[in-house]
Amino acid sequence: MFSIPQFDKDDLFQRYKRQTYLIAFPLGALLVTLYIANALTSGVMFYIAIFMVVELLVLSFFIWQNTPFLNTIELIFYFSVAAYFFVLIQFVISKLAAANLLTLASLSEQLNALSMWLTVLLFGAFFTLKPGQTKVMLAGVFTGMISMFIYNTSVHSIADELAFSIIFRWINPISCLVMAALIIQYMGVLQQKRASTDALTGFLNRHALYSVLLQEMERSIRYKRPFSIVLFDIDEFKLVNDTFGHLEGDKVLKELSKLVVSLMRKTDYVGRWGGEEFLLVLPETDSNAAQTIAERFRAKIEETHFMENYFIAASFGVTTYEASSSVQEMLSSADVALYQAKNNGRNQVVVKSMTKV
Ligand code: GH3
Ligand code: MG
Ligand code: MG
Repeated sequence: MFSIPQFDKDDLFQRYKRQTYLIAFPLGALLVTLYIANALTSGVMFYIAIFMVVELLVLSFFIWQNTPFLNTIELIFYFSVAAYFFVLIQFVISKLAAANLLTLASLSEQLNALSMWLTVLLFGAFFTLKPGQTKVMLAGVFTGMISMFIYNTSVHSIADELAFSIIFRWINPISCLVMAALIIQYMGVLQQKRASTDALTGFLNRHALYSVLLQEMERSIRYKRPFSIVLFDIDEFKLVNDTFGHLEGDKVLKELSKLVVSLMRKTDYVGRWGGEEFLLVLPETDSNAAQTIAERFRAKIEETHFMENYFIAASFGVTTYEASSSVQEMLSSADVALYQAKNNGRNQVVVKSMTKV
C-alpha cells in the first residue's frame, strides 16, 4: 500500500509531550530522591536510584532546552525504566535467595507485580514511540522476562514445586504481555486507518491521496506506464443543503460514496479531496480509458435516485500523467479541466493534457 501519512496534529502532540515530560521527569527525580533519603544508604539499589535521578534531570534539561531529539529522549527513558525494573526485581529475588526464602511462589509474586508495571510501560511506549520502536521494546521486555525466568529457575535451582504451579503462576505476566502486544498491534492499525481516511465516506483523505499520487507517479516514471486522475465535484450541491438540510446533504455524500465504490476497479483509489469533491486515482490507465471511466461515473450519478424527486449530477476533470511533471501540476491540470466542465454547463467530462510550467 502507501506510506502512512503524517498527522498535522503531530506537532501539537509533540508539544504536549514536551510539556508533560517537563513536569513528569523532574517530579520523578524528586520522588526517587525522597525514596533514597528515606530508605537507602548504600548498596546496589542506592547507586541505581542515584543514576535514575541524574538521568531524569539530564533528560529534563534537554527537553527544557527544546532538543530536536525528543524521540531519542523517550527511547532512553523507556529502556532505562524497563532495565531498572528488571534490576530491581533481580535484586529482590537475590535477597530472597540469600535469606533462603526464594520459592517459586515468592518469585512469581515479584514477577506478577513486575508484569503490571511493564504493561503500563508498554502502553506509554505505544502512545509516544514510533510503531517500530514499540515492537523492539516489546521484544526487549519479553526477552528480559524469559532470561530472568531461566536465570532464576536454573541458577537458584528452585525446582521444588510442581511444574503445573509454575505454569499457573506465570499465566498473569505472560498474558499481560500477550494482551499488550495484541492491543498495540490493533491500535496501530486503527491509528493508521484513522489518519488516512475520511470519517463521513470512509474514503482516503487528502493526505493519504498525496501519498498515493506520489507512489503512482514514481511507478509511472519507473515502468513507463500511463496513470490518470479524475477530479469530480457535485453540481449545485449547495442547493441540496439549502433545500433539504445539511444532514440530508451528508446522506447524499454517503450514498454517492457507495455508488463510487461499486463502480471502481479493485486497483483504483478514491479519496475525498474536499467537501463534495472527489479524486479518483487510476493506475495503468491512459487518457482515453480515464475518459471512459469518468463518463461512466457521470452517467451513473446522473441516473441514480439519491433523493426522492431530485437528481444530482457531477462535473469531471480528467488528466493523464506526463513524465517530468509534478503531482502538483497534474492536480492543477485536473482542476482546470473540472473548472471548464463547470463553465461549459456542468454534468460533463473534460479531458485536459498537462500544462507544462
Ligand atoms: P458547483 O456546481 O459550482 O460545484 O456548485 P456547488 O454548490 O456544488 O459548489 P460550492 O463549492 O459553491 O458549494 C459546495 C457545497 O458543498 C457547500 C457546502 O455546504 C457543501 N458541502 C461541503 N462539504 C459538505 C459535507 O460534508 N456535507 C454537506 N452536507 N455538505 C457539504
Ligand atoms: Mg460542487
Ligand atoms: Mg466544490
